[in-house]
Amino acid sequence: MALAINSPRGTADIFGDDIRYRNFIINNVKELFKVFNFEEMITPAFEHTGVFSRSIGESTDIVQKEMYTFPDKKGRSLTLRPEGTASIVRAVVEKKMLISENIPLKLYYIGNMFRYERPQKGRMREFWQIGAEALGSDDPLLDAEMIWMLNNIFVRLGFKNLKLLINSIGCSRCREDYIIKFREFIKPELTGLCGNCKNRYDKNPLRIFDCKVPGCRAIASKGPKINQFLCAACNEHFEKVKGSLSDLSLDYEISDDLVRGFDYYTGTIFEMISNDLASAQNALGGGGRYDRLLKEFGGPDKPAIGFAIGLDRTMMLMKELGIKYIDDESRAKAYIISIAAAGQPYILDVLKKLRDANIICDIDHTGAGIGAGIKRAGKKDYNIAIIIGDDEIENNKITVKDLNNFKQYSINKEDLLEKIIEIMGAIKND
Ligand SMILES: [Zn+2]
Ligand SMILES: [Zn+2]
Repeated sequence: MALAINSPRGTADIFGDDIRYRNFIINNVKELFKVFNFEEMITPAFEHTGVFSRSIGESTDIVQKEMYTFPDKKGRSLTLRPEGTASIVRAVVEKKMLISENIPLKLYYIGNMFRYERPQKGRMREFWQIGAEALGSDDPLLDAEMIWMLNNIFVRLGFKNLKLLINSIGCSRCREDYIIKFREFIKPELTGLCGNCKNRYDKNPLRIFDCKVPGCRAIASKGPKINQFLCAACNEHFEKVKGSLSDLSLDYEISDDLVRGFDYYTGTIFEMISNDLASAQNALGGGGRYDRLLKEFGGPDKPAIGFAIGLDRTMMLMKELGIKYIDDESRAKAYIISIAAAGQPYILDVLKKLRDANIICDIDHTGAGIGAGIKRAGKKDYNIAIIIGDDEIENNKITVKDLNNFKQYSINKEDLLEKIIEIMGAIKND
């Protein structure tokens, strides 16, 4: 008996329509990154465990419970990356990429990430993220540009009713004062918190804001707000970010409870949400400053900012919201069907002209006849059937069938491209 092997829980095979959605997203995002002058970087899918545990934070859910950590054959502890920023920073420091002429160093990545979570709708154990990082500058305008870029990803993809949330969680100095006040507030509420949050109270109380238990978040949100504790420098920076967003005509809302899930964040943080989605599941992507991370990795004491979006999640939400990918809408896909006995040079001439004109084109190899060929073309998403029989060859003609409405035209061979453009224009305007 054959051995039946299924894909591991929380992984996906991606094919068919999903590939088309995915490519539509990737192509759009890459085009946008190009305009903002970001360059692609690819880092390994696994790193030494410390790269993640130290940067993301020992008290986060990711590090405590969700990392795929394993010893390799020499006993070194490795971890499949649960996110992209730590690897980029590790690489930038290791390769000494941050030199003054490069600042800000603008990089983006598209890669698979791994977290051992309970799989559910839109949350997989292997998932794909697209992220961008700008390293070396603390210019508030750069924060605004990153937020602008994140916003425009979703605008480009066709999302509507977007809302931009921003906050500042300050530097380590302002956070010290805040954490004292926040602990004072939380202390009498401790019994109402989950077990994890009781630990977080000691280690990093800010993490209570992103606990998965809604009750914990509700308690935290009644407490003092971190953006009320900003030092003069952090406050001025945040004011300038807001000013730049206004100068870019980007609407935003200040979200006092936004802290984002990683310990490495400092200062500006932001999140893009969709008002078309239920509030528990409405985040499309987000990011923030991480001004200490380069130094923590042994690099220069330089600030940085980044964001990430979930590729699979974006795809799922597009489907859910009825946003259709645009599959090269103006490109024709033609199927050549021939029953001519001695027509090969004539047919190949047509095929060559079509392919030279970038028209996606196949030739019927089944020899099953015109009726069967048209049926096959209709089923396979061709929009044009090109029929060539003995009559056509004799008169230097081509029969073109618009499979969108089954109208048929007999045209001169020379007019083929023009006719296809005409038909495709009509399809586009439908
Ligand atoms: Zn500060
Ligand atoms: Zn909790």
